Amino acid sequence: MEVMRKFLPAVLIVAFCFPLAQEGRGQQRSFYQQTDYKGQEIGKLTGDIYYARMDDYMSVFMVTPDGIVLVEPIGVEFATWLKGEMASRFHVPVKYVIYSHSHWDHASGGAVYADTARFIGHENMLKNVAMPPADTPLPRNVRAQDTNGNGRIEASEAQGNLKTMFSLYDADKDGSLSGAEIVRGPILNVRAPELTYSDRMNINLGGKRVEILYRPTGHADDNTVVRFVDGTNVLFASDWITVHRLPFGPISPDEIAPIKAIEAMDFEYFVCSHGKLGKKADVTANIKYREELKDAVAKAIAAGQTLQQAQASVTMDAYKDWEFYAVQRPQNVAGTYRALTAKQ
Ligand SMILES: [Zn+2]
Repeated sequence: MEVMRKFLPAVLIVAFCFPLAQEGRGQQRSFYQQTDYKGQEIGKLTGDIYYARMDDYMSVFMVTPDGIVLVEPIGVEFATWLKGEMASRFHVPVKYVIYSHSHWDHASGGAVYADTARFIGHENMLKNVAMPPADTPLPRNVRAQDTNGNGRIEASEAQGNLKTMFSLYDADKDGSLSGAEIVRGPILNVRAPELTYSDRMNINLGGKRVEILYRPTGHADDNTVVRFVDGTNVLFASDWITVHRLPFGPISPDEIAPIKAIEAMDFEYFVCSHGKLGKKADVTANIKYREELKDAVAKAIAAGQTLQQAQASVTMDAYKDWEFYAVQRPQNVAGTYRALTAKQ
């Protein structure tokens, strides 16, 4: 091996070593967002509808005599565990897996169910999981990692997230990441949907209906919400409508109207893909937070405050006990401030 290596181009050695070393590696739970929510569990919501949790992440499923409809595979490890639990508890197979959007931390692991299930996602998800053009340059924020300047990130160069999740980005398993692979994301374990829709879609299974609805957001242009119609209805919406938790990142007041449209739908239980279980009142509270934030930021702008001053003065004290208050409040203020000043 030592002798041979001298004659092999460096790229080939890397290509030979890394896929072997990393093949079969799933996505460790430590890759996922970590909070105080810990453990894997299944619990009943209402009727034949259950939630399943992996640490901070939540999925929902409905059991019928003809099989199970599941939202969010989440990951390979979780899907493997959940599939076993569902088989021993309910004795029916998973017939449908519905993706809320294409991000790796929600959509990975679907292949675990491929022996019995069909996969549903919004049509934009196909574009989002496709490989971008081969000449896609390295994104600006990772260019500093390309120390040898060859326009790719080799395993030895990768830092941070690219290093941790290298094998999940490396779709062609050649041991280096192209701009296209990096832009596409760490979605090696995301299986593309085979049933896509553009506006809405219903599935009927075992006499129960599931409504699949398109609600694009700033976070995901392939965002799907799911309503389980089963007496006491359950709504699942991933990422954007958080429960007793500040929304993620630089939010815009433009999101208030679509969340109000969700609130107007018929459901009692609300499940975000993260954190606490909710009810419709939690969606109402999320709207109230966003409206109060918008008003407070508008006042700060009217008083001539800079963004930094607004971030200091808009304290949203009533929400101090919500999760991520310290981390997300300044970001929420910033997004709202920029949106409101852009409109002036
Ligand atoms: Zn996401």
